[in-house]
Amino acid sequence: MPELPEVETVRRGLAPVMEGARIRRAELRRPDLRFPFPPAFSEALQGRRVVSLGRRAKYLLIDLEGGDVVIAHLGMSGSFRVEGALEAETPGDFHMPRGKDARHDHVVFHLETPDGERRIVYNDPRRFGFMDLARREDLAAHPFFRDLGEEPTGNTLDADYIAAKFRGRQTPLKAALLDQKNIAGLGNIYVCEALWRAHLSPERLAGTLVTAAGKPKKELVLLTEAIRQVIADAIEAGGSTLRDHIRADGSLGYFQHSFSVYDREKEPCRTPGCTGTIGRIVQGGRSTFYCAACQK
Ligand SMILES: [Zn+2]
Repeated sequence: MPELPEVETVRRGLAPVMEGARIRRAELRRPDLRFPFPPAFSEALQGRRVVSLGRRAKYLLIDLEGGDVVIAHLGMSGSFRVEGALEAETPGDFHMPRGKDARHDHVVFHLETPDGERRIVYNDPRRFGFMDLARREDLAAHPFFRDLGEEPTGNTLDADYIAAKFRGRQTPLKAALLDQKNIAGLGNIYVCEALWRAHLSPERLAGTLVTAAGKPKKELVLLTEAIRQVIADAIEAGGSTLRDHIRADGSLGYFQHSFSVYDREKEPCRTPGCTGTIGRIVQGGRSTFYCAACQK
């Protein structure tokens, strides 16, 4: 499943084409993805100008003039590509091969842009992605968004905020960090990476990072910084891919960039001075990679 940095890179790749463009036609090639399209979806989009392209957690938010917002989620295998320029452009460079099969092109936004006609094509072989429509003023209370915690991007995520969430919690750190009510959009890969950077065991209980008075311990301050930095680094890596490597083949998936601990079972730990080996445990049905020697 694409993680937040991938979705943010897709957003950054699509924004220059979509923002300010008018949707001449929204072509749906089937009645549903993971869920049915909302009633009159293509009619609601037709002729509307895209005001801005945003993101909340792993949802892309396409703001339209008139106050409607298209909510798009990539699911497991969804991708967007831009067609109609000299060559097809795919925002980002991803690890898993993505669908290029036209049979899986399920949605096409036909756009009028200052640079001419463009098509934004949504391809999704497994169809776990979905699109919905909401009013801008209703988004905060929308079931997708109302319980989400702070974003790991921007300045709102700080150690005091996490301390308030973790205080007294007997939950392993891995599960507490994956809980979207605490931090929105943080997934398995980047939780492993952040815990490794902060030298904290994924099995450590969340409440042990908070003082009796409810203040963040130094370890939690370092963890907060590691979370913000690991996400920022991944977005930066995606951004440089976007600049340097716009591809013509229309494939999207996970970033190619290498991880420090994720998927490195039995490899030497990369922490300077550590002689440990990366191990793997299963927590909540998902693999956790960590170094028992330097993560306490
Ligand atoms: Zn280590």
